[in-house]
Amino acid sequence: MQPMAESVPILVSLVIPVFNEAEGLPANLPWLLEQAAVPGVEFEVLVVDDGSRDATAEALATLASADARIRPLFFTRNFGKEAAIAAGLDHARGEAAIVLDSDRQHPPQMIPTMIERWRQGFAVVEAFKRHRGEADLGGGLPARLFYRLFARASGIDLAGQTDFKLLDRSVIETLKAMPERRRFFRGLVAWAGYPSARLPFDVPPRVGGTSRWPLVRLVRYAVDGLMGFSDLPLQLIGGVGALVLAVAGFAGVVALYQKLAGTALDGFTTVIILLALASGALMLGLGIVGLYLARIHEQLQGRPPYLLRRPEDRQP
Ligand code: UDP
Ligand code: MG
Repeated sequence: MQPMAESVPILVSLVIPVFNEAEGLPANLPWLLEQAAVPGVEFEVLVVDDGSRDATAEALATLASADARIRPLFFTRNFGKEAAIAAGLDHARGEAAIVLDSDRQHPPQMIPTMIERWRQGFAVVEAFKRHRGEADLGGGLPARLFYRLFARASGIDLAGQTDFKLLDRSVIETLKAMPERRRFFRGLVAWAGYPSARLPFDVPPRVGGTSRWPLVRLVRYAVDGLMGFSDLPLQLIGGVGALVLAVAGFAGVVALYQKLAGTALDGFTTVIILLALASGALMLGLGIVGLYLARIHEQLQGRPPYLLRRPEDRQP
């Protein structure tokens, strides 16, 4: 990771996942490379086209033919940002890699400082949100709640975290050796626990195109993230079960007393409520078990987390 003769440039990989970025990419990518320039550092740029359905692939191919530093990778379909990051890291050849978004929300002006901190001996350098911008988990209260819950459940504090990170080669190899299919990049990096330097920044607005994180996807991302790092939800099922059992027991005693005292009349409403409560809790519990089971199932199937197509293959 460190000091070589000044004359031999160090190779650093930039990993940039892109999905439907045809609008912004042709201007953003060259701008980004211009901003990132560091003396003594050579860049290779792994731009991963995550199965874009617009003209991103063509735009990327054009950019790559104009600049030898750009190494494009093309997915066969949309596998998601996490898979795109993994693909970039898998193919990176640099002494370090920096993961960042293509839409200018991760300011490349920070890259020289990130590299400086890395050379000072930090295996991980993380760009940290000073104030919450529009990027990441929808922003606002739901995100804060999620981070609170995540920290409680997993013991890992992700508040302010982004995917904008520099990783030393050793960390890249650690991540590559992790066999899990459903990845949660920032969680994995935090979990690995390498000493990290934090650089605060303000998230600027996106340039070109629109953010593609509809609510459903965000919720899935949050649930995935949580389940990958905690089995608290499974433990909660037991707690809820105990609670329902206590309520049901109490109701049973009351019902029995009324029966014996001859005052048992018209218990219909009570029955309905208890039945609904109990079956609701049961279903919820089953659902949570099911989600964990699905993860195990997916892991056992052992399918690759992403597939690459050759640039010359026809697009889907
Ligand atoms: N992205 C991706 N695959 C997806 C969705 C997004 O590779 O399925 C890329 C996108 O092109 C961008 C980065 O991930 O470079 C962040 O996405 P976006 O800006 O939409 O998210 P936000 O900034 O709102 O968190
Ligand atoms: Mg963005």
